[in-house]
Amino acid sequence: MINITLPDGSVKQVFKGSNALDLARQISEGLARNVLAAKVNGKVIDATLPLYEDAHLTLLTWNDPEGKSTMWHSSAHLMAEAIELLYPGVKFGIGPDIENGFYYDIDFGDYDISEKDFSKIEKKILELAKEKQTYQRKEVSKADALDYFSKKGDEYKLELIQDLEDGQITFYKSGQFTDLCRGPHIPNTGFIKAVKLTKVAGAYWRGDENRKQLTRIYGITFPKKKELTAYLEMLEEAKKRDHRVLGKELGLFTFSQKVGLGLPLWLPRGAVLREQLEQYLKRVQKEAGYEPVITPHIGNVNLYKTSGHYQKYGEESFKPIKTPVEGEEFFLKPMNCPHHCEIFNSSPHSYKELPIRYAEFGTVYRYEQSGELHGLTRVRGFTQDDAHIFCTPDQIKSEFNGVIDIVQQIFTAFNFNDVIIQISLRDPQHPEKYIGSDENWEKAENAIKEVAEERGLNAIVEYGEAAFYGPKMDFMVRDAIGRKWQLGTIQVDYNLPERFDLTYIGADNEKHRPVMIHRAPFGSMERFVAVLIEHCGGNFPLWLSPDQAIILPISEKYQNYAEKVLLLLKKHEIRTVIDDRSEKTGRKIRDAELKKIPYMLIVGEKEEASGSVSVRKHGEGDLGTFSIEDFAQKINSEVNKLINY
Ligand SMILES: [Zn+2]
Ligand SMILES: [Zn+2]
Repeated sequence: MINITLPDGSVKQVFKGSNALDLARQISEGLARNVLAAKVNGKVIDATLPLYEDAHLTLLTWNDPEGKSTMWHSSAHLMAEAIELLYPGVKFGIGPDIENGFYYDIDFGDYDISEKDFSKIEKKILELAKEKQTYQRKEVSKADALDYFSKKGDEYKLELIQDLEDGQITFYKSGQFTDLCRGPHIPNTGFIKAVKLTKVAGAYWRGDENRKQLTRIYGITFPKKKELTAYLEMLEEAKKRDHRVLGKELGLFTFSQKVGLGLPLWLPRGAVLREQLEQYLKRVQKEAGYEPVITPHIGNVNLYKTSGHYQKYGEESFKPIKTPVEGEEFFLKPMNCPHHCEIFNSSPHSYKELPIRYAEFGTVYRYEQSGELHGLTRVRGFTQDDAHIFCTPDQIKSEFNGVIDIVQQIFTAFNFNDVIIQISLRDPQHPEKYIGSDENWEKAENAIKEVAEERGLNAIVEYGEAAFYGPKMDFMVRDAIGRKWQLGTIQVDYNLPERFDLTYIGADNEKHRPVMIHRAPFGSMERFVAVLIEHCGGNFPLWLSPDQAIILPISEKYQNYAEKVLLLLKKHEIRTVIDDRSEKTGRKIRDAELKKIPYMLIVGEKEEASGSVSVRKHGEGDLGTFSIEDFAQKINSEVNKLINY
């Protein structure tokens, strides 16, 4: 017998050579029916692989990310089998799982494949799935592996095998399809109950544009039909919320080929939105003891040689700007930190001044390939809500706490209620990969872990994910339709203080090295606005809405009164516009609804006579008649409540 320790600490005894499925059956048949794979001593394996030694084991189901990825990778095999049966002679590249589903790169030879063929392939996949084909693992020698795929005539697999070491090669056979694969896979294809092929695209073999372009087919599978339905509904909803579409419809931002790819132009409404965000964060930061600084958009090449950014980004970034004077070279600023280090260095500091917190909405420029650009989420010029905290090693914990206060305040204000936090620490096996003393690393890592624990943050700890210069904490949010977005980060840095020779005078009158903390709760203004648009579908919270109210005079006769209302509301700092087109009121209401303006104020004879407005709320309807003063107060108290003044 061997002892298997489960995640809850309980120990089960099973016969040597039993597998994870046998163990699941010991617990319950119901559980066994849902097991897709197993994690044994940290490694995901087939649930059917025999176990010969004591181990720590986690049963993986559809509810575990690794269960999903095993299912999706196994689905790639199944799709390949279906395609091989329908299109004999095609050749296969690679077929991995991805964040949502899987793909397979295929050389279709003379066959012409388009989305029109999807339903035929999907039907075949489901037909094969019903056969409950098992995924049979087989270890093969390199010679046998090469022999198999030479006979099959698949040069892509042959090339992959050439790069593998003899003794480490495995095949998996399911139904009539044999693939070179290291696994793991689900027990059988019967788990796959619903499939949707989502996209066909070209993909160069091994990502090399000098090599052959294969056809990449993307798909996704589910263990239940209704999960596929829900997924397709989510995709439809995502299309409606696409920030590139809404950004245009709501007049927030645009792009111009003439200005350049990946360089957003903020339109007046977008600029108002962005200004509100900046003012909000500036106020929060001022309360938290940050001081504003302003730095230029370019910096001398030597600045980036000192910071190390030149060595790291110099080659694959924008080329240096040369001045008419010989030997002068400048770079577009890829990061604000080097500039802030020089601000710190501009005067001597005593420990009594620390922590020092410099904040700047700093615009940076980074080269991205044109194919990688996407709306506001991947751009070449963007503004970070950046700040750098210079503190002593002992202050890291309280500074982290302070930054998390700001981050949480922001998430509440924007209705991000589902936050995922990741703490990235050193790889304890390889301390040599990191700079900075062991003592300081331990101090920082413990501080971060303690903060997370004390605040009851449900943080995932990842070892080996830290940057070489310090540990960090990343924040991801789940939006209203369940998608994950990476937002802000807090990062400890021992490297730049070293490189810029930053010092402060300690209580002992000696020079000491401060620690630097980089933090940007929004990440960048561009990315944050994109996420916000998709999260709220363009229905911004009242305090952010570029136009908070629109006045709709029912005819030209009431234009003067409308302007009087506008003036009064502007005095109360309520962002208001008038729809003075000679359209019917019904049409004006419909258009205001489409523009997602929170309040519509209808004015006619009755309103003018009583000095009032008839209020309609976006998406809700009639709220009745208000005096102008009462309406202004209603709006302002609503705004104050939303951002906790
Ligand atoms: Zn596989
Ligand atoms: Zn920085």
